[in-house]
Amino acid sequence: MIVFGKVMGDELFEGSVAETAPRIAAFKQHLAGISHNLSRMLEESGAAAMPVTSVAVKDGRLVGGLSFKHCAADAGLGEIGDNGLLLSPRYGIRLGLGAVLTDREIPAMTPARNPVRLCTHCGLCIRACPTRALTTDGIDSFRCLNITGALPGPVASLFERLMGVKALEEPLTRLANRVAAKSAARCSECLVACPLFRKSGGNQVPVRPEEPDG
Ligand code: SF4
Ligand code: SF4
Repeated sequence: MIVFGKVMGDELFEGSVAETAPRIAAFKQHLAGISHNLSRMLEESGAAAMPVTSVAVKDGRLVGGLSFKHCAADAGLGEIGDNGLLLSPRYGIRLGLGAVLTDREIPAMTPARNPVRLCTHCGLCIRACPTRALTTDGIDSFRCLNITGALPGPVASLFERLMGVKALEEPLTRLANRVAAKSAARCSECLVACPLFRKSGGNQVPVRPEEPDG
């Protein structure tokens, strides 16, 4: 497994949702392009390789297809904070991750001698969440504005019900990845609230959740 990261610049957090959406879509496409090119290069060199998709439907839950952040944390690149995101000692909370699965043998690197400890459990991310999607027990994806904004209420509840049907896991996984690739970030409060957001030079201008109509 190869995991790589690219720093999310200020432009992904500054402005309205309409302004940031195309930048975020381009950023995601860039990561997907790197995965694709890396897979192709590995295949051309005789190894089996495939890009890893970001989400999967499994046992009635929406989970990471293969959790990039946990792989990155296992490789010693950082730790998972209480907001469920990778915290990097070098890039703070701003790493967008991509991954490629391959059978190419890659020499193991020496893991960090002292495990990284970055999350102070300050609770700022949890308090910043406008929908209480984020709690000390983790994230309820179907309360997160980035999911509810991409899937209207009736569609989300139907999707949630269908996730319990084993035979539908594969098509729902494809659908979820299509939605994830195209969805705009409507909220980044839990990310911006974290003191580590500024670690790589962020200026604390978040994507604010939109006010409900009326
Ligand atoms: S992105 Fe917004 S709504 Fe979703 S968990 Fe973070 S703060 Fe909550
Ligand atoms: S805001 Fe505080 S509790 Fe949340 S991830 Fe950052 S350091 Fe951890």
